[in-house]
Amino acid sequence: MPSVRPFFNVQDFLLFMPSIVQKLSQTPISKVKFDGKSVSLDYGGKRLSYAVVKRNTCFVGNWSRSSTEVYYDAHLNDPVEIESICIHEAVEKYVTEAFKLDVDTQSHRIAQAIEKRWFQKHRRSWAYYNKQVTKIWREHGSC
Ligand SMILES: [Zn+2]
Repeated sequence: MPSVRPFFNVQDFLLFMPSIVQKLSQTPISKVKFDGKSVSLDYGGKRLSYAVVKRNTCFVGNWSRSSTEVYYDAHLNDPVEIESICIHEAVEKYVTEAFKLDVDTQSHRIAQAIEKRWFQKHRRSWAYYNKQVTKIWREHGSC
């Protein structure tokens, strides 16, 4: 009998997980549509589409674990920043659910890499934006 390696062992798992984060981070988004009530975009051969809700999120942005909603914080008012947050949350929600990733160590990193490319394409300063977001989070993030 030929010996067959198991499909998954701990070593494979540890090697595989960083590469899926890298791969998903490099996957481009396209056909972004945002109207303040919904966000949709093409990503990795899928069309993602979520309802957008403005609320006090405690995290600048967030997404529903049980429905198809993404949230942006009520203290944000720049339309490009709001769209940017919603793209981030949409990607983060999708990769968490589709690939069973950990939000803090994996999905957030993927969402941030994709969001950063989108943001810079709009000729905006990523550093300034992150300062703004950190400021909102410091002032309102502990609700
Ligand atoms: Zn995130």
